[in-house]
Amino acid sequence: MGQKSTNKDFKGRENKAQDAVSLVDGFLSGAVDCGASDVHFEPTEKELVVKYRLDGVLKQVEALPKILSENIIARLKVLGNLLTYRNDIPQEGRIETNGQNGGVVDKRLSVFPTIYGQRAVVRIFYQHKNLTELEQLGFSKPVLESLKKIAFKNQGLLLLTGPAGSGKSTTLAAILRFILKNFSGKSIVSLEDPVEIRIEGVTQVQITPFGEMTFPTALRSLLRQDPQVLMIGEIRDAETAKIAIEAALTGHFLMSTMHSGTPTAGFLRLLEMGIEPYQVTSSVSAILNQRLVRRLCDKCKKQNSKTSFYEAAGCESCLHTGYKGRALISEIVELDSELRKAIAQKTDLEKLETLLKSRGHTNMPADCRRLVGEGITSADEMNRVCGIIE
Ligand SMILES: [Zn+2]
Repeated sequence: MGQKSTNKDFKGRENKAQDAVSLVDGFLSGAVDCGASDVHFEPTEKELVVKYRLDGVLKQVEALPKILSENIIARLKVLGNLLTYRNDIPQEGRIETNGQNGGVVDKRLSVFPTIYGQRAVVRIFYQHKNLTELEQLGFSKPVLESLKKIAFKNQGLLLLTGPAGSGKSTTLAAILRFILKNFSGKSIVSLEDPVEIRIEGVTQVQITPFGEMTFPTALRSLLRQDPQVLMIGEIRDAETAKIAIEAALTGHFLMSTMHSGTPTAGFLRLLEMGIEPYQVTSSVSAILNQRLVRRLCDKCKKQNSKTSFYEAAGCESCLHTGYKGRALISEIVELDSELRKAIAQKTDLEKLETLLKSRGHTNMPADCRRLVGEGITSADEMNRVCGIIE
């Protein structure tokens, strides 16, 4: 995978810039070939280490001699239209994907200065070909029922939380299609950055984060276009959050994503963004928190005789990782009178968590335990994703 070169091939070569062009092309196309979501170029003291993120986990694919580092980063910056003469500041841009195979819709580049030189990360966005129905995503029955109930609403806000690559776009697309199927006449608009999943029947708008069509600008004008259902790719700032909450309070059903670790942290994040507690409690219907865990490879997984759980082994089929494909774990918190009261009183995170626990809320680790019990994933993987040691 992308290992077209070794350290010794480069010694004595003079045309480093030429090498950099073909190396960068090779790494980027190699990443697309194996479906990697990110390519990392990490300078160390003596090398430039290249890694791919596969199924959510980083895997080193190459360690290049340090002498090539500068040219490789410079080449990436040229591709991303960044300032090549500035090596001392973080920069972000996008790499043109014209004529790209492999269903790539966008590539984002970010460079950052470190003590060993500039570090670069390319995030690759793919167009999802296999549209999945809401019922097929792997939600537990109670979560699925809650989501369906919320999707039938005419007003309110459904928030999805989880880090990048936790399957949020797939879930949002599935819910939009569920709404389309049940209410074919509804006016549905989505603002995305970038558009990863094309959905027939939905007006999809591409946001340009570095241009004029930002989330707040687009959202504000869009509300005059009489939409009933709105999907906003991400709530990143207070301005977007405020417009979204107001829209949810005035006869629109909204869905969006936000960065936070748990549903309760999501509620507090909105308060931190300057949203009034009464606005949060009267607009937010629910917060869904989700992650993807790696599935144990069916060909080589082994049952531990002591615990009876399955563990990763490794075979040709799974590239000796022990895992193949991914499964969804989730938890949902719907706002009811008790939670509304707690949020209105600006209760802290710990108290909210305790309140949920006392009511028997199934949190994400508990949902993951269901998959460990069924032999779909391992306890190690659960600890990696949920961060608990048992
Ligand atoms: Zn295997």
